[in-house]
Amino acid sequence: MTLYDPQLVAFHCSCSKKRSENILLSLSDEDIEHILHERGEIDIECEFCGAVYLFNKQDIEELKRIKKQQIH
Ligand SMILES: [Zn+2]
Repeated sequence: MTLYDPQLVAFHCSCSKKRSENILLSLSDEDIEHILHERGEIDIECEFCGAVYLFNKQDIEELKRIKKQQIH
């Protein structure tokens, strides 16, 4: 008998790439630059299910571009 079913946990968790994108966009440009410089990419981990969403410099630039378009 197993008490831990990863698929079940994932099913119940409401996290998504979209949500991690919002977290990423809430960081300052300075912080983003700093992490990218040190690690080459930024990983946003879901505190509930442990899912990890990775973003590299290209992804982040694309996100910022989309965000800018939404404001205007
Ligand atoms: Zn999650």
